[in-house]
Amino acid sequence: MENPALPSTEAFVDLTLLNGGSMVGSKHLLHAGDSPADFRLYNWAFLIQHPSSNRRVLWDVGMTSKEDDYPPVITKKFIGPHHVAGPVESLAEQIKRRREIDAEEIDTVVMSHAHFDHCRPVKREFKNAKVLFGPGTAEHCSPGHLEDPTSMWDGRIFDPRQGTENWDTLTGPWVKFGAFDEAMDFFGDQSFWIMKSPGHMPGNLSACVRLNGGEWSHSELLDGTKEPATLSLPDGTTFSLHADLPTAKETISRIQTMERDLKVHISLAHDADWMLEEKDEVLLQLLDEPFKSDMRRALPHHLPF
Ligand SMILES: [Zn+2]
Repeated sequence: MENPALPSTEAFVDLTLLNGGSMVGSKHLLHAGDSPADFRLYNWAFLIQHPSSNRRVLWDVGMTSKEDDYPPVITKKFIGPHHVAGPVESLAEQIKRRREIDAEEIDTVVMSHAHFDHCRPVKREFKNAKVLFGPGTAEHCSPGHLEDPTSMWDGRIFDPRQGTENWDTLTGPWVKFGAFDEAMDFFGDQSFWIMKSPGHMPGNLSACVRLNGGEWSHSELLDGTKEPATLSLPDGTTFSLHADLPTAKETISRIQTMERDLKVHISLAHDADWMLEEKDEVLLQLLDEPFKSDMRRALPHHLPF
């Protein structure tokens, strides 16, 4: 790879970390060599405000406890069995309390990918928002559950005839950004980049923003500090959380380059250790006091908050 560099810009966005709920997961599904112990897997969402255009964009929407937010296959397999819990304070309530922005003012929701712990229909909660997915998502997730009841993908989004959500596929243009070959300059001023980050599932995206003060922050799904797990199943097949493991590993290595060579601050979609230990100044500054007191109460006991 030629020497990657970050663009030079003075533009920035305001970033707010939001609580996107949690579920019970198993460590050995995530990382090779970990024990099968259960733990509470937290989900984060981000509010991105672009001061110069007044755009308000959500990155992912986490989970809710409402069964009808999901296709029946997901409800049956995950919502009850994995103790899925939406945040006590909904995303819209968090945004209102912390930024005084009404749900109707959210203009865009970018989904990092279509898995249920990041994505669901949003029309009820953010009625004016256009939802955007990475290229390849729609092809992979159609048909949805309205046309095929066995589908794990939501037909309100992915069924062409019966869909009710307002969504589209990101069209780029895709250019080089840092260690990534295909990235989109979302606002056109280089403050918010969306990168194709393949491997976890088709259409998977990560994002990088420039904060006021010049810090770059990259949000990703994958934990680059341990090897992703591959399990052998009784029927002789193997299971991985990543649809294409070699490609996922390549994406992880790009993220590691961003961190090591370009000094980009990395935040991982499900990581809660930084919160438990309160060791990450960049992320902690995205929280307010009620959020911190809730997390101090909940995290040591693996509780929802
Ligand atoms: Zn996923």
